[in-house]
Amino acid sequence: SNAQAQNQNKGGNFTSGDHRTQNLLARKQWIAQQRKSLPIAAVEKRLVDEVRKNDTLIIVGETGSGKTTQLPQFLCNSGFCHDGLLIGITQPRRVAAVTVAKRVAEECNVELGQKVGYAIRFEDVTSSSTRIKYMTDGLLVREALLDPFLSNYSTIVVDEAHERTVHTDVLLGLLKKVQHERSLIIVKRQNPCHTAAKKLIMPDKEDKTQSINNLKPYQNAKLTPLKLIIMSASLDARGFSEYFDGAKAVHIQGRQYPVDVLYTYHPEPDYLDATLITIFQIHLGEGPGDILAFLTGQEEIESVERLVHERARQLPEGSQKILTAPIYSSLPSEQQMNVFKPAPSGSRKVILATNIAETSVTIPGIKYVIDPGLVKARSYNPVTGMESLIIIPTSKAQALQRSGRAGREGPGKCFRLYPESEFGKLMDSTVPEIKRCNLSNVVLQLKALGIKDIFSFDFMEKPSRTGIVKSMEQLYLLGALTDSGELSDPVGLQMARLPLDPIYSKALIIAHEFKCLEEMLIVVAMLSVESIFHFPREKIEEATAAKKSFSSTEGDHITLVNVYRASAECLEKSKAANSKEKTMEKSLNKWCRDNFINSRSLRHARDVHRQIKGHMQQMGLSISSCGDDMVQFRRCLTASFFLNAALKQPDGSYRALLSGQNVQIHPSSVLRAKKPDCIIFNELIRTSQNYVRNVTRIDPLWLPELAPQSFAED
Ligand code: ADP
Ligand code: MG
Repeated sequence: SNAQAQNQNKGGNFTSGDHRTQNLLARKQWIAQQRKSLPIAAVEKRLVDEVRKNDTLIIVGETGSGKTTQLPQFLCNSGFCHDGLLIGITQPRRVAAVTVAKRVAEECNVELGQKVGYAIRFEDVTSSSTRIKYMTDGLLVREALLDPFLSNYSTIVVDEAHERTVHTDVLLGLLKKVQHERSLIIVKRQNPCHTAAKKLIMPDKEDKTQSINNLKPYQNAKLTPLKLIIMSASLDARGFSEYFDGAKAVHIQGRQYPVDVLYTYHPEPDYLDATLITIFQIHLGEGPGDILAFLTGQEEIESVERLVHERARQLPEGSQKILTAPIYSSLPSEQQMNVFKPAPSGSRKVILATNIAETSVTIPGIKYVIDPGLVKARSYNPVTGMESLIIIPTSKAQALQRSGRAGREGPGKCFRLYPESEFGKLMDSTVPEIKRCNLSNVVLQLKALGIKDIFSFDFMEKPSRTGIVKSMEQLYLLGALTDSGELSDPVGLQMARLPLDPIYSKALIIAHEFKCLEEMLIVVAMLSVESIFHFPREKIEEATAAKKSFSSTEGDHITLVNVYRASAECLEKSKAANSKEKTMEKSLNKWCRDNFINSRSLRHARDVHRQIKGHMQQMGLSISSCGDDMVQFRRCLTASFFLNAALKQPDGSYRALLSGQNVQIHPSSVLRAKKPDCIIFNELIRTSQNYVRNVTRIDPLWLPELAPQSFAED
């Protein structure tokens, strides 16, 4: 256009190519300058020395001081990547691993996947030249299945340890063991008669886990002592230090400007609405600076995002623009970096984030924080064995971290959407996840790692005995453990190999037997993303009609299969018309809009589908379809999800058969109105009621037939 042409002319003598070079140079300089000004830069030498001196080191430092992005570079530059060894940095969240790796690759001026790379479940962006590898903590645990001594790593940095996710806790226990064993192997090599080293039990050759362990590593000549670094944003390093036999802790002095904390007078009944109102109060009443609002999940983020856009259209002509940037775990990776893009001058950016923005990723430019004081968390009842997602108040530590985000670059303001009296009632810190989640995945993984006695595993904080017993019981019912508590062959081994919840791994293995793996693959992929259906407030009727066109009277699982297949058909048509990748993408997006399908979620599901399919093929499982035989498929769902079978009660609620819990069908289910006599479900959500989501109608007689271990009549 004309305006653009004029703008380019202002560039004077430069051609556009020179422009780009200039910009690139400027950006490089800017990045170098930013790096130098980080608090961690001043203590580089001291940190590297401490890592040299201590095999285990705890580093505590304010969020934003440069721990995650800088420390691995310091170590790599100081020879910790000798002989092709890697520095691994684990993150509790995928988004953090991806965005940080991208940033560090840019800082190092290398292509992502070369010297700096990342690996998360279903996505590996590394190569043989990778030396700094960001990954999720869960992924490193899986790597240990293939390489029990993690022999490719010289150093492992467990980042965000204060989050105490279940994977972090498992990883800490595992790393402690690996570090010990590696040092013993080295001692043994130098002195074969060393008593302790002699006692070191090498993975048993007869051991069933052998088929997934490969034993090469301990013949590996380059095996070095493992350097372990535990990084945390919270001030309390004592717990970690005690756990690691008195390991040294160093503190990095952060930089923090004052943050004005404001409370509401009364509790807010609708926190989404309160968030929306606060966003516009800041936008219209406060000076420049971006806003960061903490919400509980993708659904809440997307709904606030829409409302902000709607209300922004009603602002008077010529008002300052307001832009939104969402960030949550399952956001497609090409959209994740958007939060880091500065808002164009004359506009304000609102970042809508889950608690990922508390400490995991530091976003520049934030001056205002909105904290409704809530977080979505896993909760587990070890007696019934049921896990659910609930929205609970944050801890004091989380509230402080959140408000701290407003004072990184200058004085800021934090709006807590609850009365001040409530703050005092919050718990000091969050209960570690391992104490409030289903442990079957943990038990399965530890068993696969050759740890026979789960009860005596050296956890930083031991999960409850009842919890472990219940999980072992569930694994036994799923056929993953034998009578004597060993991993079963082949089912247990296959389940451990898949990067999925045990119940979904089992579903895929069973589906192969039932010859409907094609359908189950789709179900598992679709269940791994949040909110496929899109219900904008202003178009509820159209959205409901659209959903109806996919609905199956049999239930939500088959409905999901219908959606997936319809979307695949749309892509096929586009492909048949010889469209380019971009055009295909566009037509899929249009299809999503027309059918009220969440295109972000669908794309993620397609991605997961492709990856699990790869695993299935690697395991040699052929992908057959049951065609139109939906009875066959529902029988397969029954054989897979029988742990969550429920019977209708006279009052229209349901009783979960194995847990005895009383539940209701969630309003979003296609079976909400029909209420069949017997159902299986996938997910329990606790709000004011116990709701179950993703429900399918089954015949109660199938239960004793297909899951005799739980339902045999006697
Ligand atoms: P810490 O781990 O101590 O919390 P980080 O190493 O994550 O600190 O962040 C250091 C600095 O790098 C912060 O100022 C942050 O704003 C900046 N930063 C990190 N990632 C990005 C990114 N993707 N784009 C721009 N700046 C980033
Ligand atoms: Mg960090």
